Amino acid sequence: MEDALKLEYEAKNGWSLLDEGARKELTAFCEDYKKFLDDAKTEVEATEVLTAAAKAAGFTDIEEVIAQGGSVCPGTKLYAVNRGKSCAFIVTGKDDPTSGMKMIGAHIDCPRLDLKPRPLYEDSGFVLAKTHYYGGIKKYQWVAMPLALHGVVFSDMGRKKLNVKLGEDENDPVLYITDLLPHLAGGQMGKPASQVIGAEQLNVVTGSVPAYKAPEPAEEAKPEDQECKDKPENGGNDSLKTLILKLINEKYGLKEEDFFRAEFEIVPALKAKDVGLDRGLIGAYGQDDRVCAYTAFRSLLDFEGVPDKTLLVYLSDKEEIGSMGNTGARSCWLENLILELVHLHDAAYGMLELRRSMRNTKFLSADVTAAFDPTFADVSDKLNVAFAGGGIAFEKYTGSGGKYGSSDASAQLVTYIVDCLDQAGVPWQLTEMGKVDVGGGGTIAQFMADLGMDVIDCGVPVLSMHSPYELTSKADVFWTYKAYLAFLRA
Ligand code: MN
Ligand code: MN
Repeated sequence: MEDALKLEYEAKNGWSLLDEGARKELTAFCEDYKKFLDDAKTEVEATEVLTAAAKAAGFTDIEEVIAQGGSVCPGTKLYAVNRGKSCAFIVTGKDDPTSGMKMIGAHIDCPRLDLKPRPLYEDSGFVLAKTHYYGGIKKYQWVAMPLALHGVVFSDMGRKKLNVKLGEDENDPVLYITDLLPHLAGGQMGKPASQVIGAEQLNVVTGSVPAYKAPEPAEEAKPEDQECKDKPENGGNDSLKTLILKLINEKYGLKEEDFFRAEFEIVPALKAKDVGLDRGLIGAYGQDDRVCAYTAFRSLLDFEGVPDKTLLVYLSDKEEIGSMGNTGARSCWLENLILELVHLHDAAYGMLELRRSMRNTKFLSADVTAAFDPTFADVSDKLNVAFAGGGIAFEKYTGSGGKYGSSDASAQLVTYIVDCLDQAGVPWQLTEMGKVDVGGGGTIAQFMADLGMDVIDCGVPVLSMHSPYELTSKADVFWTYKAYLAFLRA
């Protein structure tokens, strides 16, 4: 007798599929992930940390191979870096690249506050730094919490780069943005949330201690040779801002003008932590989209053997502001990289082979989606929302207001990928982000679709997305990693 045919769909729970051994593997993987979150809070740091890990695992810079007039053979491991902010990792396959590649693309920029080009000013006993927010944030969430400064400063015609990180070490001071006390916030509390904190109120406290002026010693008590020694050697008459500039100069060798040569980002000075007594969740800044970046990167790093199709993990920048610019997914950087790969495979290959390759490529747009939040249940359609712990979430389409601005994946592509996960025993859910007409969002999927690739969005469901401290389920982090691995192996 056959089992009764099960007709009704039953959603899976990612935790219930994990035996004791798998739970240990999950815990170890999530510890690595948390360390990555702490080490790489910006696109620049993520690029540095991941390329260093790739190098250690035997990946070679594609620029070196190109410069040496080299070629690739099946199993060659390469990486490519775009202006220090975006990168890609490749394992070349046995098949001709015109038969297509398998790619996973995530983004490594996160919502944050950038310092303005000329940020520093002094006002009423404080030195403050002006910011310009980056990406879609709720501005009121960024006040009254410890903040860190991360960034790069260039010198010598752009040849020398200095990395700056302040507020992350246990012994570092942190930075801070003030909020109004409730006692005096009557006016503020009556405003819509979008105006509770204005963009020009996101001013970062960077200093407050005025110069010490030694009291003038009485004339008779002043020995001739001691005249100058009692006064501070410098700083006695310095403004507060000058004193802060001196501290910056001592620590980093910078002058105020150097802020024009810099890109400084203000991020929460918070470490990734387990959340809940059973430690099932991860709280951290910037999990959109470093959770998909890390799981995608690890899936390629942990891929063993020589693949049939060339495998590529692409980590882009500027997704949070529309994927613009030459490090964003709308630039031709990825296309040029694929052209280089096609050409390295066969020196006679050029644009036609590039087009054929892209047309036959399957691309997972690895980005987060909103997890169902029981506290804010009314924005979601419970039948079609992603649940934390339910496994990797696929979005056949994103966009908003009648699927506008979406790359709608074909049912055929959905079938290919979910069959591939079913065969590997990986739980998945197929979801929409919220109720129709409530809102929406976009990813890099549409730009990859423009290149002719078959693309679908999939990634980890997140609670409190774009807040300074986002929440994910460890089960989803682990299963998303397993899902990407299954896709690369299929
Ligand atoms: Mn994202
Ligand atoms: Mn986002």
